[in-house]
Parts: sequence; structure tokens; C-alpha cells
Amino acid sequence: MKKQILIAGGGIGGLAAALASSRAGWPVQLLERTREFGEVGAGIQMGPNVVRVLHDWGLGVELARVAAFPDMLRVRNADSGEELGRLMLGERSRTLYGAPYATIHRADIHKLLLAAVQQHTDAELHMGQWVESFHEGDDGVHLHTLDGLELEGQALIGADGLWSTVRHLLLNDDAPRVTGHLAYRALIAQRDLPGYLRSQQVTVWLGPNLHVVQYPVRRGHWLNVVAIVHGQVNGEVDDWDHETHASDLQDAMGETCNKLQDLISAIPNWRLWALCDRPPMTSARQQAQGRVALLGDAAHPMRPYMAQGAGMAIEDAACLQTLLKDPDMPMDKRLERYAQQRWRRNARVQARSIRNGQIFHASGLVRWGRDLSMNLLGQRLLDVPWLYRGPN
Ligand SMILES: Cc1cc2nc3c(=O)[nH]c(=O)nc-3n(C[C@H](O)[C@H](O)[C@H](O)COP(=O)(O)OP(=O)(O)OC[C@H]3O[C@@H](n4cnc5c(N)ncnc54)[C@H](O)[C@@H]3O)c2cc1C
Repeated sequence: MKKQILIAGGGIGGLAAALASSRAGWPVQLLERTREFGEVGAGIQMGPNVVRVLHDWGLGVELARVAAFPDMLRVRNADSGEELGRLMLGERSRTLYGAPYATIHRADIHKLLLAAVQQHTDAELHMGQWVESFHEGDDGVHLHTLDGLELEGQALIGADGLWSTVRHLLLNDDAPRVTGHLAYRALIAQRDLPGYLRSQQVTVWLGPNLHVVQYPVRRGHWLNVVAIVHGQVNGEVDDWDHETHASDLQDAMGETCNKLQDLISAIPNWRLWALCDRPPMTSARQQAQGRVALLGDAAHPMRPYMAQGAGMAIEDAACLQTLLKDPDMPMDKRLERYAQQRWRRNARVQARSIRNGQIFHASGLVRWGRDLSMNLLGQRLLDVPWLYRGPN
């Protein structure tokens, strides 16, 4: 059996896993179902817990070339525009957590990881290869793709996302659940916005049954905006992604303050996603069994209300690297330890993401209590030391 690691999926999680495995000294074969990489046009936030991993991988300079590093997160009332609380990021994040808070275009972090894999590793990337099945023998894992490619390796990492085939074959559990939340996403060049709508901070607008998050990407030249509302979609939600317009989002949001309305209408084109997740993990066996491990959304798809889905995928990869480095441990033991070290933290972030959604979208008395506590406690309420200090 070849001494190599097989990875299904070439998203942020799969590429991070390829880099981590190679850094631990393992040859890698990565299989991606699409013929060309094409990340969606949207941004992601990366807390200092994630940026620290990228720094450890020597990617700090590349990151600084493409990301933005906001110095503040402000929470505002979506109806009145009034500020409810703020969290200092920038220098505070560097001092307390050893790395800045970054915001980045998805395509930029994907490209950055891909370049690192291509330049610093011997990983082989097989594009247009849809992992269809695998079976585990005594000495390793054999994998088959729809196109008839067969590969073998010491372990298989399923980093094949929300609708993971590897997960289905490994756990045979239910499909992801539809959350009833819809995400409208858009990017706009800051120069195309009037001055009063441009921003270099993270702003979160909270309203009943909705919230909107905006932050800079591409060194602050672009603004990413995500609006979450409640609603259902018709038909299949698998890979559900539609073009839509500002007017549809405005109808879905109803009355909000002028500045937020202006921001939404200043951006003509939006894309709409139906959000799905899984309940928080309940055991290590949901993250690895034998020589097969899950990583990223395949293991723990979450609502984006902690902005940590991709972050947890990158943390998973960093943990895998540590265990793959150990020269003596049998592979199933390494993956068992990986799962033991990761599942509780992943479950906690999944659970907290659900709770954040409830708090963000609260109405009535709960909303009143939330606003009051944010006014009184501000930074203490918005900071998440257990998360940002992690993973260990
Ligand atoms: C609205 C929204 C906002 C978000 N904001 C943030 C944020 O601010 N911060 C953050 O950290 N996260 C955020 N996330 C979450 C983040 O996008 C995901 O957690 C992350 O992209 C998961 O990466 P992944 O590599 O695990 O999965 P994916 O990105 O889904 O990649 C899976 C890859 O596997 C491939 N694949 C699938 N099946 C197969 C197969 N059978 N064989 C071979 N290849 C296969 C796919 O083509 C794909 O390339 C957000 C998500 C949403 C929806």
C-alpha cells in the first residue's frame, strides 16, 4: 500500500489538509470533482485563531497582500442605525490573541492555499474526479472515482463539503437540514459606493428575523455584504445558488434604517443561498473511523453566525498535521486522536453559531434584553476568548 494521503475535495478545507499533510511529510493525492477551481464571489472573516495557523504555515506575507485587517467590529440596530456595541480588533487582537482579525475574498484565500500547495509540496491534484466510493482494507484505503480512477493510500480525508459523499459512505446519516434561513451575498468596489457607505470596519446590523454583515476585502478596496433573512426555497437545496436583485432583498427585509436601505440598493446584483447545517457533533466517531476522517463542512457544517466554518476546517487541518507527524503511531490511532482533539470544539462552534442566530434575529423582550446587555457589557459580550485563543 502506497504511503500517501488521499483527500476528497479541493475547497478551502481540502487544500488546507493537503498543505498540512505535506508539511507533516506525507505525499498527497487530492481529488476535486470540478474541472477548474472556481470559488464563489463572496468574503469570509477569519478570527485570530485561524490567522495564527496561516502564519504558522508561513503564509503571513501572502495573506497581508490580499486580505483586509479591520480594526473594529460594530454592532448596530438595523431599524434605527444606532450603535449597540463594539469590539476592538486590529492591535487588540494581535496583543491578546497573537494575530490580527482578517477579512478576505474567498477566491483569495483559496488561491493563496492553492499556490502554497503547488509551490511548496509535491501534492498531485486530480481535477474533474468525483470520489464515488472507497473501501478500507487492512493496509489502507482504496478509492474510486466516477471516471474510473483508482487510488490507494494510508488514509482518506473527506473534505468534500456539505453534501459529502465520503461522509455518506462512512456514517450513512441523514442529509443536512434546511435551516429556513437565506443568505443574500454581494461584493462591490468601494469606489462605486458614495463616501458615506464606504467602510473599513466589520459592521453587523441586527433586526427582527434578519441580520446584515459588511466588511472590507481585497485590502479594503472592496466591500462584502451578507444579509440573512428567514425564508424557504422551492425545490432542491443541494447547491442552491441563484442570481437575485436588491429589490428582492429589500422586500425580504422590510423596513430598516436609511443607511442600510441605501447600502442594499447601491448594490444592484446579489446571489442568494439557502443555508443548511447539521446539528452539533455528538461524538468523535462522527469525525473519523478507522483510516477515514472528515474535515471542514463534511464533518461539521454550521450556520455562518460565528464566521468560523472555513476557520474550523483550517484548524482541523492544523491538528491533522500534528498527528501525521508522529512517526510511530498507526494511522487509525492518529485519526482517532484527530477526532478526539477536534470534535468538541467543532460542536461548540456549531452550537454557538445556532445560538448567535437566535440572538441576532431576536424580537420583543429578548431583543430589548440583548440590546441592553450589549450597551452595558459591549466588548466583553462580543469577544470570544475561548475561540480566538484556541484551538488548544
Ligand atoms: C453565507 C456564508 C457566509 C460564511 N462566512 C464565513 C466566514 O465569515 N468565515 C468562515 O470561516 N466561514 C464562513 N462560511 C463557511 C465556509 O464557507 C465553509 O465552512 C467552508 O467553505 C467549508 O470549506 P470545505 O472545504 O469544508 O467545503 P467546500 O468549500 O464545500 O469544498 C468542498 C469541495 O469538495 C468538492 N467535492 C464535493 N464532493 C466531491 C466528491 N465526491 N469528490 C471530489 N470532490 C468533491 C467540491 O467541488 C468542493 O470544491 C460561510 C458560509 C456561508 C454560506
